[in-house]
Amino acid sequence: MKAFAMKKIGETAWIEKERPLCGPMDAILKPIALAPCTSDIHTVFEGAIGERTDMILGHEGVGEIVEVGELVKDFKVGDKCIVPAITPDWNSLEAQDGFSMHSNGMLAGWKFSNFKDGVFGEFFHVNDADGNLAHLPEGMDLTAAAMLSDMVPTGFHGAELADIQFGDNVLVVGIGPVGLMAVAGAQLRGAANIYAVGTRPNCIEIAKEFGANNIISYRDGKIDEQIMKLTNNKGVDKVIIAGGTVDTFIEAVKAVKPGGIIANVNYLGEGEYVKIPREDWGAGMGHKQIRGGLMPGGRKRMERLADLVMTGRIHPEKLVTHTFEGIEHLSDALDLMHKKPKDLIKPVVFVK
Ligand code: NDP
Ligand code: ZN
Repeated sequence: MKAFAMKKIGETAWIEKERPLCGPMDAILKPIALAPCTSDIHTVFEGAIGERTDMILGHEGVGEIVEVGELVKDFKVGDKCIVPAITPDWNSLEAQDGFSMHSNGMLAGWKFSNFKDGVFGEFFHVNDADGNLAHLPEGMDLTAAAMLSDMVPTGFHGAELADIQFGDNVLVVGIGPVGLMAVAGAQLRGAANIYAVGTRPNCIEIAKEFGANNIISYRDGKIDEQIMKLTNNKGVDKVIIAGGTVDTFIEAVKAVKPGGIIANVNYLGEGEYVKIPREDWGAGMGHKQIRGGLMPGGRKRMERLADLVMTGRIHPEKLVTHTFEGIEHLSDALDLMHKKPKDLIKPVVFVK
């Protein structure tokens, strides 16, 4: 089969590869709609997860089942499915402990384009089909469905990790597609004020639509200094980090109140260490919690998120600014993600 792959760090190419094999609990799908991710850019161009050779890229997509293993109960050939970016081993001890995303090793629930080939091929493999696939609801917009793979669950995981409560004042650093869904998640969970950090005009517009009532530009000075001005020197209850660099933690720790939570879903592609400012962290005694996590993945979570789309409570289709027709355009879509033109939020490739 034909697939779009990472040849090595810094280089992508179309390659020929064997069609994946289906185990007894697995499924093989052909893609219907695919999306590249900022994480693909960290993986290929920053070498963030190390060297990978001829590894098929991509972890966001909607597909149709072409083969199922004999032990799969709820899915059959021809079913259209939303494929979560994270596909854990649900019988692992880590999943039983509540950390499915780390099933059988740190980050090992993130299999596509990390521990195995991704979804950017004519066919792709999904482990534990009953536990990981979700039926595509009748009538769901395909662009919204593609955003359900990763953008919605990751942004929402930021809101979960930050433990947003009614009336919280929340800072969301970064309003690319992940941060925008974090804004939507914070809004759904009842935040009072949402301060959103970013500069791209269309992202700002959607951040406001999704619930942000204050926009901050990181180009106008330190984020924490701007937050202190806006909150009468009190700081915010919660910070969700969905953009920036390793140094963003410095601003986040300064911006959050004692007792507050900093929740990171940003993929730190570069830098050796994360710095915590000692004094602003209460010399180690400030009860400023720092959390960071990969989203959990799995079918049940996906079905719940899909329900939010079907009932009109969230509108992830608004993230999609560019569409392509034909699998051959995956390279153009990835190129767009790499160059990040001002008007881009997220591209989707429909596979004919
Ligand atoms: P984008 O690049 O589209 O958005 C990044 C955002 O951060 C933009 O709003 C950008 O502002 C802003 N930003 C850039 N520099 C700074 C800075 N110095 N200080 C504050 N804000 C800044 O990324 P995505 O939304 O696609 O993804 C966000 C991150 O989430 C990525 O690292 C991605 O890899 C990661 N990710 C993590 C997953 C997980 O499971 N944990 C899954 C999927 C993605 P501007 O408006 O100027 O562009
Ligand atoms: Zn992704």
